[in-house]
Amino acid sequence: MKITINQVPQEGLYFKEAIDPKDLDLDTALIKFRSPVKLIAQVSRITNALIVDLNIHGVAFADCSRCLNEFEWVFDKDVQLSYPLESGDVFIDLNPDIREEIILDYPIKPLCKTNCKGLCLKCGKNKNEGGCNCGST
Ligand SMILES: [Zn+2]
Ligand SMILES: [Zn+2]
Repeated sequence: MKITINQVPQEGLYFKEAIDPKDLDLDTALIKFRSPVKLIAQVSRITNALIVDLNIHGVAFADCSRCLNEFEWVFDKDVQLSYPLESGDVFIDLNPDIREEIILDYPIKPLCKTNCKGLCLKCGKNKNEGGCNCGST
């Protein structure tokens, strides 16, 4: 997402945009994005800076660290970014900051639910789906 500085009117600018997650380089071993990241931006201009109030919303898929099932991880965050303006700047690229805001919130140990029971250590059955017959409790 780029903002062309001289296209921001004095009264500010409001817009929505969807970014291809590939442009943000978001995927990790545990988190995969398969749909665009949605942004709602309110840009205001002050004397020597642009202030961007941003809502970032995305749905990713994560692998549960206990039961290994894939689940939806919903990301929704409001941030305020500010960019000092230097003379000669033509546009501001928000992508590095957007990427950082999302990655900061990545769960270290993703869980499909807080009380996920995980897998049976003996037979490997997913204990969320009921008890197993291998004799272990
Ligand atoms: Zn789980
Ligand atoms: Zn078992």
